[in-house]
Amino acid sequence: MFLREIEAPVSDLKGAGPSVCKRLARLGVYTGADLLLLAPRDYEDRSAPRLLSEFGQGPVNCRVAVVAHDWFGFGRMRTLKVWVEDERGTKAALVCFNRPFLERSLPVGSSLKLYGRFDYRYSELQSSAFDAEPLDGSADGAPDGVRPVYPLTEGLGQSTMRKLVAGALARWGSVDDEVPPSVRERRGLLRKAEALRALHAPSTPAETLEARRALAYEELFYLQVMIARRAASRRSDERPRDPPPPGLAIALEERLPFELTADQKAAIADIVADMSGPYPMARLLQGDVGSGKTLVAFFAALYAIASGGQAAMMAPTELLARQHADTAARLLEPLGVRLAFLSGNVADAARRPLLAALARGEVDLVVGTHALFSGDVEYKDLRLVVVDEQQRFGVLQRLALGAKGRKPDTLMMTATPIPRTLALTAFGDLSVSTIRTMPKGRKPIITHLAKDGNEAKVYEFVRRELAAGRRAYFVYPLVDRSDRLALKDAEAMYERLSRDVYPEFRGGLIHARLPEDRKRQTMADFAAGELSFIVATSVVEVGVDVPEATCMVVEHAERFGLAALHQLRGRVGRSDLQSYCFLVWSDGGAEDGARLSEDGKRRVMAMKATTDGFEIAEEDLRIRGPGEITGTTQAGSLRLAFADPVRDAELLEAARDDAAALLGADPGLVGQEGGIVRAVLERASPFSERTAAVG
Ligand code: ADP
Ligand code: MG
Repeated sequence: MFLREIEAPVSDLKGAGPSVCKRLARLGVYTGADLLLLAPRDYEDRSAPRLLSEFGQGPVNCRVAVVAHDWFGFGRMRTLKVWVEDERGTKAALVCFNRPFLERSLPVGSSLKLYGRFDYRYSELQSSAFDAEPLDGSADGAPDGVRPVYPLTEGLGQSTMRKLVAGALARWGSVDDEVPPSVRERRGLLRKAEALRALHAPSTPAETLEARRALAYEELFYLQVMIARRAASRRSDERPRDPPPPGLAIALEERLPFELTADQKAAIADIVADMSGPYPMARLLQGDVGSGKTLVAFFAALYAIASGGQAAMMAPTELLARQHADTAARLLEPLGVRLAFLSGNVADAARRPLLAALARGEVDLVVGTHALFSGDVEYKDLRLVVVDEQQRFGVLQRLALGAKGRKPDTLMMTATPIPRTLALTAFGDLSVSTIRTMPKGRKPIITHLAKDGNEAKVYEFVRRELAAGRRAYFVYPLVDRSDRLALKDAEAMYERLSRDVYPEFRGGLIHARLPEDRKRQTMADFAAGELSFIVATSVVEVGVDVPEATCMVVEHAERFGLAALHQLRGRVGRSDLQSYCFLVWSDGGAEDGARLSEDGKRRVMAMKATTDGFEIAEEDLRIRGPGEITGTTQAGSLRLAFADPVRDAELLEAARDDAAALLGADPGLVGQEGGIVRAVLERASPFSERTAAVG
């Protein structure tokens, strides 16, 4: 039996009554398989003995005798203290908070096996986090040596967890291998059953690493098989395609007031080559904020339209989708392109005729939010799907796109450079075009840091820019005061900046709780120059493009993530005007932990040090750690329990090679060789189910 086929509920185990099961559910554990896959968060190495006097070198691990009981505190706070003595005569106190029952189980005169961290406190050696077992056999059945430390939840203790897992191992642990034997041998991996045993009942610390390696490899291999299969199925979708006629694209290029950059041209050439090829395109276009990706997408759309098809462009926010629609109206409508805009906010009366027009092929390019791919939207001949700021969408949403139209070409755009290793996981079958150079004439943005309290100077600087006809953004972490923290909020600052600071200029307010049409009007007024400044939350973070904006002021900058700060800064520096970014940070004063965290400081410093998006992404990776990134949107909410595509980069590449070799060699044979591959062939993968559950 394969591990994932174990559907028996944990309640089948001895000791797992209804209340224990409820607590296990909080940890996401329902079945025997879930329990066996519960990764210990740490291990205690109990193979090294350590006396009480050696407490400074690590956890104490020795035999002791109970010499006395003692109580302190009153009433419900009354607490037991158990005095123990080791073989050298060192005495120490076990402070039993909330464990009065230890009076019985650790009686005076008994001998104990003791494990725990000790400290000098109130001039006595004591510990309140200790494990003590009567010497006649270990209490939870786990052998001495290395013990797993599990993630816990309220009411579920370590020793109960250990007992439950030991029970699960005994009952279900002898599972079949899923990685094909040939691969397992080549990579020197433990068998699955052995890996589970080593994970939960290791005899040495080294064994736990072997266990993790085998389980991580299996996940990565699984993932790579899925990706390889997706790529293979795309390649099997042969279609006759002629090179798209260039007429429309030439017309657009002639109308542009500037030259395309060399990288933009190269990206467009890549796209045209894909579109003329026998398989649907799956391309990722990466380029730093402001590098001109939108235009590349419009060229792609023109090629699709020129060959008689339709194109759809999806943006993560309504604001951004509106902006793209406006730009398209300006650039493409004069070429005769028929445009439409669609979001969840388009009222039924307008929506119905729009859908009909799309289905009849009377719309060439539709721009919108994810509403573009809701169930009732039909296309006559959808040839191209563009996803802007694709890192904002989950894997599932991206996959849903492929279902519309007959094998449309897809172009994903991102300003967040994807580390190579992640590209191999979530985006394994994409080809990549990169825009490295900025349009001609751009000046590097000048970034200033200012401490909270000095913002008046910043406001004065911005005043000079506004007076010269330039525009500015002010960004705050919160919408209004109802947010509990003692931070500046957008609404109050909008009042203050309009009334007290810049009475001579007009400003606007934008945050997520305002109605879409208000937001749109405000953005349009700002773009047209009727408003000089915008006060906002991070809703302006992605994509917004107003070339005359030269100042970005972010207050409480320490509150924002590095990627968000980089995106925010990217809202300026979009023309040949010199632009500025002011990061106002605070390091405390406020209650509620509004202190500048170490990480916050590092982020702000990193922003000062570089404007290069790739460097920022790498620093982000260092600050946040790879684990966090894999868990989030970058990997598209793939949940991996053991593998970390960044840390396990080598393993990932091995898995990729193995999966490709196996599927390439003989697709028929693969089906029989290994359980993973068989499972992939037979049913939906567990990844998509988990992703769906996460939403
Ligand atoms: P991003 O890559 O961040 O999506 P945009 O597509 O919003 O960037 O482009 C940023 C700005 O640069 C827009 O105002 C766009 O019109 C302008 N732009 C794009 N390509 C060029 C170019 N080759 N030369 C000058 N300006 C350009
Ligand atoms: Mg963009």
